Amino acid sequence: MKNCVIVGINWGDEGKGRMVDLLTENYDIVVRYQGGGNAGHTVINEYGKFALHLLPSGIFRKGVVNILGNGVALDLENLWKEMQTVQAQGVFLTPANLKISDRASLLLPWHRILDSLEEERLKEKKYGSTKQGIAPFYSDKYQKKTIMAGELFYPEYLEQHVRDLLEWKNLTLAGIYGAQPYTVEQMMAWLTNYGEKLKPYICDTGDFLRRAHTKEKSILFEAQLGALRDLDYGIYPYTTSSNAIAAYAPVGSGLPGVKLDEVIGVVKAYSTCVGEGPFTCEWFGPEADALREAGFEYGAKTGRPRRVGPLDLVATRYGVQIQGATDVALTKLDVLSYMEQIPVCTNYRLDGVVTDEFPFPAALPKAEPIVEYLEGWHCDISKIRTWENLPKAAQNYVRFVERRIGCPVTYVSVGPERDAYIKR
Ligand code: GDP
Repeated sequence: MKNCVIVGINWGDEGKGRMVDLLTENYDIVVRYQGGGNAGHTVINEYGKFALHLLPSGIFRKGVVNILGNGVALDLENLWKEMQTVQAQGVFLTPANLKISDRASLLLPWHRILDSLEEERLKEKKYGSTKQGIAPFYSDKYQKKTIMAGELFYPEYLEQHVRDLLEWKNLTLAGIYGAQPYTVEQMMAWLTNYGEKLKPYICDTGDFLRRAHTKEKSILFEAQLGALRDLDYGIYPYTTSSNAIAAYAPVGSGLPGVKLDEVIGVVKAYSTCVGEGPFTCEWFGPEADALREAGFEYGAKTGRPRRVGPLDLVATRYGVQIQGATDVALTKLDVLSYMEQIPVCTNYRLDGVVTDEFPFPAALPKAEPIVEYLEGWHCDISKIRTWENLPKAAQNYVRFVERRIGCPVTYVSVGPERDAYIKR
């Protein structure tokens, strides 16, 4: 059985959760491989409406094993709260269908505090963080200054490790930011409280995945955010602090030797972006308000209004390339139905030169969008389920997009519900 990774091609919020929820039907295992509770994957299904932050979007499917891989930022407190919310809506979570990697590093309470303190210090130069502690967490992980989930099974080792970490971390908290330092007792109480709740789910998921792979179980890897927020390939420094690209999926999941068979890149039919950073196609005023309302573009995690604009084919083509996408799922096509003509950014003008290459981040603020208009379809397409029934103008829009980005559009999503899609 082939394995597959579902990734975002743009700035995030493309509708990955919706695609994972749809496609998990065909998979045995779903793995989240990077990022943390700063995600907000919206899923609508028979259990209701959910904004999943850390839980993999396969948790609604009976028989599917969901894994939080070693690459995620594991916030025990928020994960536990999310599990309670989801279970209250009738979803069963047991160590059989939810497994947490013992090699996942822990996002600790001071990471969230440091995230807020640093955004406050930056004032108008802030990164637009969701303040979930993700940047301080990943910098600590790469400095080898946090705790692995499996250490919860070694209390004496853990306590000494916490003591060593605090000696260092309090220098930053109290010394640089003037914040309250942590005590070993406080940290151990937090770790014991949430650790005891979650220990039943923590195991050697690498071993589990290797065995599953040998038995030819099908594995779906689920990314958070999008290519343009990838730490190495995105619009640095307005990126996230982890690698959201498909190539990281094997590493962050616990199957570093596996080859990816399919990479489904999710692209929204127009552009949106939450937070700071250059956003070349951005609209303002009534035009932006109309698109934001039509697509209900408010952050699933923060409720922040998203920045909106027409589909940016320059950024999307770049996203497709760095993701190595084999297929594209084009979501929210129904949202464009209200438009007389459909705008698309086909090129950028940079220092007077027209280009279809995505610029280096430092050059991006100077880029200007060149926009073309395609014919609109002026009717509700949200009930359409076959390609043949899609209005010709909508078909033309999809074909135009796939030609320009160099990747086939295999799925067209026309509504947030599980069945509101067209498979070509
Ligand atoms: P993710 O983080 O990539 O999973 O995306 P989000 O959940 O943050 O944002 C996608 C939003 O679009 C959610 O509110 C989805 O319910 C919604 N959505 C997804 N696909 C479609 C679609 O085809 N049409 C419409 N109207 N909404 C969609």
